[in-house]
Amino acid sequence: MRASSNGFQSRTDAPVVVVGAGQSGLAAARALSELNVPVVVLEAGDSPAGSWPHYYDSLRLFSPVAYSSMPGRLFSGDPGRYPTRDEVADYLEQLAATLPVEIVTHTRVPTTRQEGREFVLVTDDGREFPAAGIVAASGSFSNPHRPVFPGQESLTGELVHVAEYRNPLPYAGMRVIVVGAGDSAAQVANELSPLARVTLAVRHPLRFIPQRIAGKDVHYWLRETGFDSLPAVWLSKLSEGSLITDSVGFQQTLADGVVDVRPMFTALHGARVVWSNGERERVDAVILATGYRPSLGYLRDLGALDPDGAPLHIGGISTTHLGLVYVGLEYQRSFASNTPARSERRRRCGCGAAGGLDSRRTRPPSGSPRSNRLH
Ligand SMILES: Cc1cc2nc3c(=O)[nH]c(=O)nc-3n(C[C@H](O)[C@H](O)[C@H](O)COP(=O)(O)OP(=O)(O)OC[C@H]3O[C@@H](n4cnc5c(N)ncnc54)[C@H](O)[C@@H]3O)c2cc1C
Repeated sequence: MRASSNGFQSRTDAPVVVVGAGQSGLAAARALSELNVPVVVLEAGDSPAGSWPHYYDSLRLFSPVAYSSMPGRLFSGDPGRYPTRDEVADYLEQLAATLPVEIVTHTRVPTTRQEGREFVLVTDDGREFPAAGIVAASGSFSNPHRPVFPGQESLTGELVHVAEYRNPLPYAGMRVIVVGAGDSAAQVANELSPLARVTLAVRHPLRFIPQRIAGKDVHYWLRETGFDSLPAVWLSKLSEGSLITDSVGFQQTLADGVVDVRPMFTALHGARVVWSNGERERVDAVILATGYRPSLGYLRDLGALDPDGAPLHIGGISTTHLGLVYVGLEYQRSFASNTPARSERRRRCGCGAAGGLDSRRTRPPSGSPRSNRLH
């Protein structure tokens, strides 16, 4: 047993290993280093900027600067400004440079095992990292959710997930169907619409929340009303279905008839899509804005996941393995669990690590507004 200067006790001499150098992993690494706990961060990518460098070109943070700082570094500039993708990536890299922790990039962890009191994280090039504890902060972007449609193997057009989408140029002149009812679906359909003929295919009606209410960003109201800290299970009682923060004027695009919305198609067949009314229509590309699932495959061999690959946890604390915790799961504890704003709020209120999510799995409560960030 090893004790740090502030009384934190580690079960072994090994460091705590954080998997993922995104906003979640960096916030966790900083918090651990403040407790004088030795930390190593393992990152699959080439920089400590999480998934932000890989998001589509036009993406902006949906929270303004005033609500986007993380512990240890202010997001600079006009507090009402919505930072671009590249600004967020730069900000995270600058934050990482200030942390007194080792960050090992180009290091993917495909599997983990337990040896006595320690975990051993094995990298894809065969290195082994012993760990007194694991913080799983690996996000979800590398695990896109791809529903399977009848007949899709016969589709001659393109079928891609929005995780692979960068900009509208390759789709110029095409007939494109975007599947989904969240922010990504709306933003991608909107920016495709001047160049391509676009339909949004949805399972549920679209629901919008305004970006600004009474002159203030919606994040002001989420924080002031306490909504962003409500336990996840409460959300199903307050709201149902996906929400779109209409930052790009998509409602106007719909009102102008430039993009239409149709109930979800039932099948794909050759060069055609089969709509729910039986109509068949030629399509060049189908883009799935159907969300993501936690990227936690490296914990499967450990037995920390359920059969669907979801972590077994309560409020981010593993219920299967002592010393294994999760950060940044969607609805881990509240609406804002995987946003930068949440990290800053946690620091300000001094909230501890124990959570309040009354669930053992990472599932949003049924009918909760999960899609406003990840779809
Ligand atoms: C398109 C999109 C737009 C979003 N927009 C916003 C927004 O505007 N505002 C907002 O607050 N939130 C937004 N989010 C939600 C959330 O803030 C981001 O997804 C954010 O990137 C999550 O941070 P993270 O650190 O939890 O995960 P990530 O940023 O995904 O970081 C995880 C890191 O772990 C690494 N990793 C994964 N698996 C392994 C492994 N096995 N071994 C080693 N490393 C691994 C990855 O390379 C990655 O760098 C958005 C999400 C998406 C998908």
